[in-house]
Amino acid sequence: MAIFYKIAIMGSVEENIKSIWSRIEKAAEKRGRNKEDIKLVTVTKTVEVERIKEAINCGIEIIGENRVQEAESKFDKITEKVEKHLVGHLQTNKAKKAVELFDFIQSVDSQRIAQEISRRASQMGKVMDVLVEINTSGEETKFGINPEEALSFIKSISDLPGIKVRGVMTIGLFSDNPEETRPCFKKLKAIFDQLKSENIPHVEMKYLSMGMTSDFEVAIQEGSNMVRIGTGIFGPRGL
Ligand SMILES: *Cc1c(COP(=O)(O)O)cnc(C)c1O
Repeated sequence: MAIFYKIAIMGSVEENIKSIWSRIEKAAEKRGRNKEDIKLVTVTKTVEVERIKEAINCGIEIIGENRVQEAESKFDKITEKVEKHLVGHLQTNKAKKAVELFDFIQSVDSQRIAQEISRRASQMGKVMDVLVEINTSGEETKFGINPEEALSFIKSISDLPGIKVRGVMTIGLFSDNPEETRPCFKKLKAIFDQLKSENIPHVEMKYLSMGMTSDFEVAIQEGSNMVRIGTGIFGPRGL
């Protein structure tokens, strides 16, 4: 109920960004952290360029798209300085384009895509920052590496020259009640801590990307340092 209420009273993009930041700050304080410790990725899928620019003018520093094709059609009109993240599943035949368009790929979920991103990035003289997507909810409809395989998977891609693993990402269980998603976030935090303690060469466990509009406060309470928010900033995407 609370979530629907918040969406129903949504304001301008500027007001929404302010309100999201103040909620991030409150959630962070509960864990004794500052809002500066948390990155906000503004998810702009289906949002038109004008409104994306409006958000950039309000100071947002990172945008996220989930489809390469859509990003391609919008990014050449976005000349403002902003970091661009791919948050959606990537097919190997789009890896080259993705490496050209994005600064960060949050959705590495197979050896094959890791190798292809690395190969394409190397050809362009780049090293691509990536996160490994973990399927913490166990839902078959979700992409991502099984939690039990996270360590061996990351070890197996850590030497690829064209990528740098900088953390992990998950899309938690979809639910009206963020408490039901909390166990997914706890699970990813435990994986993140374990990976960190392994000190895998060439891997920097820095980002724990979890939490969307309906559950980001719970994600931050569980240790997230990167939240991905679309609806909470731009309103519902149209049904
Ligand atoms: C769409 C999307 C988001 C943002 O979802 P909202 O509920 O609109 O905040 C975050 N992460 C991924 C991977 C997405 O595809």
